[in-house]
Amino acid sequence: MHSPSAYPDSFYSRTLSDAVERPALDGDIDTDILVIGGGMAGLATALGLAERGKQVTVIEARQVGWGASGRNGGFVSSGYAAGAGRMVEAVGETQARALNDLTVNALTLIRRRIERYGIDCGPIVEGKLGTLWGDTTESAKANVEMMERVFGEKRELWSEEKVRDLYVTDRYHGGVFNPSGFHFHSLNFTRGIAAAVEQRGGRIYEHTEAHSLRLDKSPKHVVTHGGTITANQVVFCCSGYIGHLEDRLRAATLPVGTFVLLTQPLEPDILETAIRAPYAIADDRAAGDYYRPLPDGRILWGGRVSSNLDPRNLAQDMLGDILTVYPQLAGKVAADVAWPGTMGYATHRMPQIGTFGDGVWYCQGFGGHGMCATTAGGEAIAAGIAGEDERYTLFEPFGLTYAGGILGPYVAQAVYWWWQLGDWWGSRKARRL
Ligand SMILES: Cc1cc2nc3c(=O)[nH]c(=O)nc-3n(C[C@H](O)[C@H](O)[C@H](O)COP(=O)(O)OP(=O)(O)OC[C@H]3O[C@@H](n4cnc5c(N)ncnc54)[C@H](O)[C@@H]3O)c2cc1C
Repeated sequence: MHSPSAYPDSFYSRTLSDAVERPALDGDIDTDILVIGGGMAGLATALGLAERGKQVTVIEARQVGWGASGRNGGFVSSGYAAGAGRMVEAVGETQARALNDLTVNALTLIRRRIERYGIDCGPIVEGKLGTLWGDTTESAKANVEMMERVFGEKRELWSEEKVRDLYVTDRYHGGVFNPSGFHFHSLNFTRGIAAAVEQRGGRIYEHTEAHSLRLDKSPKHVVTHGGTITANQVVFCCSGYIGHLEDRLRAATLPVGTFVLLTQPLEPDILETAIRAPYAIADDRAAGDYYRPLPDGRILWGGRVSSNLDPRNLAQDMLGDILTVYPQLAGKVAADVAWPGTMGYATHRMPQIGTFGDGVWYCQGFGGHGMCATTAGGEAIAAGIAGEDERYTLFEPFGLTYAGGILGPYVAQAVYWWWQLGDWWGSRKARRL
């Protein structure tokens, strides 16, 4: 177990399966394709390109997986942050199916890559349960039917009784089980994909931040502190960490903060008073809890949204969230470490995947549902650049919608309040039933 310095202190950085640190760029280089951003979107794009025989270089401002990709809940499942219903509403059933299929294929590809490249990101625990916080059984039933009819995906509607047998809380009113979802060590997976890029001949520079660009002519120039990169094509994969690098992408990005707590290990008989199954859990509020038990009896508990990434008393507040669901753990569960992460959202909550033309591409905006969808996005961009197909155009109806520009953080804060208000209202209704 190793802990290179750039990562925040977290469950993931404390349990790395390798200690590889990559060099910073030192001097000018040429490459065919440059990917900016070494999260899962950038690395999946790079691996897709390298597997297609392309010459690719990735630059990452910190270390691969330093952003959301190495700090998250570790849940992997098909679909996008927008959710299936919203997607059907926006583009109709046929295109929604085509978009969803990209992520179903990505799920298979992720499993295949873990095997092919020997990525040590386990244990892989099968099954994801979406719990119903309010009495939303009817809409959950309709959703299960739609998943099967429109998308050909199996989901199981679980009764309140069945859910409460496994999760001892009166907060849940049933659940929707997704047997094809799983959870794993997301940072080790991301680092494993980085190693695979290198195995396939790609180059990765860490501690190498792009700070200025010249994209209007070919070849393009991307300037970092260590040197200038000359490239025929450039792909932006900077998500919520894009800062001021590219105006159009920044203006289209809502950076949304969310948090994770790792508890101290609980004795099996104590954990069993609350959680009796190994699945990944996410409740159905807009800003709900997502969590999973770890093999050593700890709980990895995520939730909350805020524009303040350094809230006071984060660990204690998140312990409070656990006790809201499982009050029987009061005095028995203790915090170990808590950390923040930034998600990049578009206003429509679908990823932004496409091209400005003339060799400039982007793959971002995966929001809180990116561990599978980034592989779908990476494949779409790689296939586009390789001239294999134009599946990336499926995302065109969503596009780079304006997310507030310099007012972005205020817009984001308003969105959080809106979500929280909706959740509060849903809870009130559920309590009245
Ligand atoms: C706390 C948390 C929990 C989550 N839980 C889940 C979950 O359980 N399941 C799920 O599917 N999704 C989850 N998500 C969402 C998921 O993690 C993201 O959708 C996904 O990781 C996005 O990947 P990305 O590569 O687009 O962004 P990131 O992983 O954030 O990567 C962007 C990278 O770009 C780099 N960068 C930015 N600017 C520059 C520059 N100028 N030069 C060089 N590099 C640059 C950054 O350093 C960063 O490493 C969660 C997110 C968070 C924050």
